[in-house]
Amino acid sequence: MLEVRGIKTEFRTDDGVLTAVDEVSFDLRAGETICLVGESGSGKSVTALSILRLLPRNGDVTAGEIRFDGRDLLQLSAEQMREIRGNAVAMVFQEPMTSLNPVLTIGDQLGESLQLHLGMSKQEARGRAVELLEMVGVPRPRQIVGDYPHRLSGGMRQRVMIAMALSCSPALLIADEPTTALDVTIQAQILTLMKELAEASRTATILITHDLGVVAEMADKVAVMYAGQVVEEAGVFELFDNPKHPYTVGLMKSIP
Ligand code: ADP
Ligand code: MG
Repeated sequence: MLEVRGIKTEFRTDDGVLTAVDEVSFDLRAGETICLVGESGSGKSVTALSILRLLPRNGDVTAGEIRFDGRDLLQLSAEQMREIRGNAVAMVFQEPMTSLNPVLTIGDQLGESLQLHLGMSKQEARGRAVELLEMVGVPRPRQIVGDYPHRLSGGMRQRVMIAMALSCSPALLIADEPTTALDVTIQAQILTLMKELAEASRTATILITHDLGVVAEMADKVAVMYAGQVVEEAGVFELFDNPKHPYTVGLMKSIP
């Protein structure tokens, strides 16, 4: 589904060129979840943004290949990339980059997404929207569908964003600390939902998290990042049982 091969991402800064991601490679099959872990600043978010081609203006992927469904994303035009982001790939960020449409009710936005991506009728989509909101822990979903985004709290909007991302049964889901700002019960609920949907629609998931409990729960495999590089990649059991790189060993020791 996805092959990331030796990507290098650089930023132009006032002090010169900064290499944020270097020689990063991993594969992901349909239905599989890879967790990217590593300390703050290790290049996890930049890796995600590189794959999506959503880097800030001063950043560029300067080497490597990103094959998605056989196409090298680095060779596609901005227009083709927009199409891929609108259809096959969904993303959830800790701080939403894409936001909800302020002039559409929650129900209309979710409904449109479901009609567009899953070919549901308007009525089916409405019902499914309520279900999805319920599943991401939105209280009184029947009422919320009629609300506009500004009426919701930040945490609630994040849940709606997650419901939006999941509504289109994406081939690839990229989630960057999606539940960090939410309370633990909601977090567990959302992760369970992501897992169910990944299995049901064979979604390949890249999940960035600093929570090793989440890793144990969600990951098939794990890439450990340190200073812009993947220093270790392993199946989740292998990594917990027998970490190899000194950084990973330290990370595992930090688990109470
Ligand atoms: P994290 O693993 O915490 O997600 P990031 O991927 O956000 O780390 O950052 C990796 C490195 O890239 C950091 O050194 C960060 O300072 C740098 N970086 C990220 N965005 C920019 C930018 N727009 N300009 C310059 N440097 C950046
Ligand atoms: Mg980050």
